[in-house]
Amino acid sequence: MACTVCGSDLHTLAGRRAAPAPSILGHEAVGIEVATGRRVTWSIMACCGECDRCRRGMEQKCERLFKYGHAAHTGAPSGGLSELIVLRPGTTVLEVPEGLADEVVCPANCATATVAACLRVAGPVRGRTVLVQGAGLLGLTAAAMASAAGAAAVHVVDPDGERRALAGQFGATAAEAEGAPAVDIAFEFSGRSTAMPALRVGGVWVLAGAVFSVPPVAIDPEAMVRGLWRMEGVHNYRPEDLGAALRFLDGAGRRFPFAALAPRSFALAEVNEALEYAAAARPVRVMIRP
Ligand SMILES: [Zn+2]
Ligand SMILES: [Zn+2]
Repeated sequence: MACTVCGSDLHTLAGRRAAPAPSILGHEAVGIEVATGRRVTWSIMACCGECDRCRRGMEQKCERLFKYGHAAHTGAPSGGLSELIVLRPGTTVLEVPEGLADEVVCPANCATATVAACLRVAGPVRGRTVLVQGAGLLGLTAAAMASAAGAAAVHVVDPDGERRALAGQFGATAAEAEGAPAVDIAFEFSGRSTAMPALRVGGVWVLAGAVFSVPPVAIDPEAMVRGLWRMEGVHNYRPEDLGAALRFLDGAGRRFPFAALAPRSFALAEVNEALEYAAAARPVRVMIRP
């Protein structure tokens, strides 16, 4: 039915991200399941369920992992920029709740589920102060989810003024170009942080943005010890995070203008124009429909 263009697709096209060719790009898709007629979303990866990592709850790091939209094209379509896609065994397929626009549902299996994974590892959010570093779709979603989960304050940091203005519509209580007070939970989505954020005692820094090579960041081991801090890396998500993402979008998420983040849609035949527009104008998302 539809597929939104992710930042990772643009990284691949620009050569910043290694990918096999030829391949069918696109993973943030929603579609109609041919056999049942259900409108469904699915996990961006298929996992075997049997390897050591799968059994240890790290399905997203399955030793036989398959990622939609990032795989070599070898026959059956495996990317979202296609009229049809063949889903493999080991894929989490969930029916989409009624009344959610395609613009909202497409990124559910990418940004929304990843942020759900970030909140899962961060621990309880209610009453905590939260920092969100980077106000792209991950950061805006995190601000909205943290706000909906009862965070006492949500600080968003992003150098882009337009993105900061958007943050206010997604639950941020403050948005700054840089700097933030000490917080209980910090989420790193920019990939560009040059220092650890200031954390309160018991604080956690959850990193998910650096999916490309970045310079190292210094940590203060004594401060980490005395502060009882944690650092957590999150890459992709577990199957249950996709369910949490849909429940959020179908519940508290309806308060936030997610649909407005993908204001333009293109036909699949215009995909090159759409990708050029996405790279040049840098909207949060561009939608493509067959
Ligand atoms: Zn994506
Ligand atoms: Zn596995």
